[in-house]
Amino acid sequence: MNKGLKNCKKDFPLLSRQVNHQPLVYLDNAATTQKPQAVIQRIVDFYQQSNANVHRSVNTLSLQATEQYEQARSKVQHWIKAAKPQEIIFTRGATEAVNFIASTYGADHIQAQDEIVVTVAEHHSNLVPWQQLAKACGAQLKYIKVDAQGHLDLQDAAQKITARTKIVACTQVSNVLGTIFPLKQIAALAHQQGAIVIGDGSQAVPVMAVNVQDLDVDFYVFSGHKMLGPSGIGVLYGKEALLQALTPYQYGGEMINEVDWEDSTFSELPSRLEAGTPNIEGAIGLGAAIDYLDQLSIRAVTQYEQKLMQYLLPQLQALDDVQLLGSEDWTQRTGIVSLNLGNIHPHDVATVLDFQGIEVRAGHHCAQPLMRFFNVTATVRASFYIYNTKEDIDRFVAALKMAKEFFE
Ligand code: PLP
Repeated sequence: MNKGLKNCKKDFPLLSRQVNHQPLVYLDNAATTQKPQAVIQRIVDFYQQSNANVHRSVNTLSLQATEQYEQARSKVQHWIKAAKPQEIIFTRGATEAVNFIASTYGADHIQAQDEIVVTVAEHHSNLVPWQQLAKACGAQLKYIKVDAQGHLDLQDAAQKITARTKIVACTQVSNVLGTIFPLKQIAALAHQQGAIVIGDGSQAVPVMAVNVQDLDVDFYVFSGHKMLGPSGIGVLYGKEALLQALTPYQYGGEMINEVDWEDSTFSELPSRLEAGTPNIEGAIGLGAAIDYLDQLSIRAVTQYEQKLMQYLLPQLQALDDVQLLGSEDWTQRTGIVSLNLGNIHPHDVATVLDFQGIEVRAGHHCAQPLMRFFNVTATVRASFYIYNTKEDIDRFVAALKMAKEFFE
């Protein structure tokens, strides 16, 4: 195990606090992650030393802010192995990035009788924009199934993706099951039929090495706050030729070349697709988060999560009357676990855990179609990250047992 990783909990100031008079065990990382001091300090430094607007002036501060903002873009480019920095567009988050593509590429390319294909496991953010686009254009929305263990059914995908399909939207990791989906194969199936693929990397980029060129996705989205970065910053990756051809998502300052009385011309990528003052400190904070993960090594992060799962899953399987969603194979999943304890309502379980300082999520996790697919209304979701330990798992499992005893 990477030494830096083993000791990293101390880098996260919030993790030393108590909740309900108990030492905190934070297990809601799929919702958002805590921030290391290095990221917090980087944002403070920006405000204290270099705060200025970007791309607007030749004054020294503005040039420094611009340099830092563009450095952050390059860090993101290298992190996901994009070919060029201009293929990285900063957005508010994954949700805005999907809406961006749905309302530009989608609105320009989808017509009645076309098909948009998603999976049953999509987060609402990578589902509702496509659903609404399909409704507006008279297109058909189709769902690829998963099997009982939550693995994506590639045979079903091959049937659902047809010559009529124009867009396939697929997550790389399910935010409910933690299962890793074969995004590269989905991209190949889509391309065989002439469709484009948008990959949702929100739960993948924080925990595994991602290479968008190898995946051959046309667009790819993720959020900074799920990978130690600040909220309000996210990424839309797009192949350069596709981004070049996009109608701008928003109009305004920063993205123009020349504005005349009647019409305007627009600047080059990436600023053509980043209208208005961007979230400068957010992008710089995301860059610091990437630096932090990079010095731990993303491979070490993946291995560490697998080790935690290897330790946790047999203990959960051994519990009486537990329904565990997702793959039994810990190599096919990340550190997200969804479960139900007999008939105890997930909110009751989460409340008992919260009394003990253990923060998990209960509900539908913004994936209601997947809940329907598995015939459950809600689950308890515990999601682990680099600062969680075996001791956290012990406390989590003990608290689940206590919840069972309490309600039965
Ligand atoms: N996609 C997945 C798989 C997610 O887990 C989430 C957030 O939970 C999102 C998209 C949306 O991310 P955001 O709310 O940061 O835009």
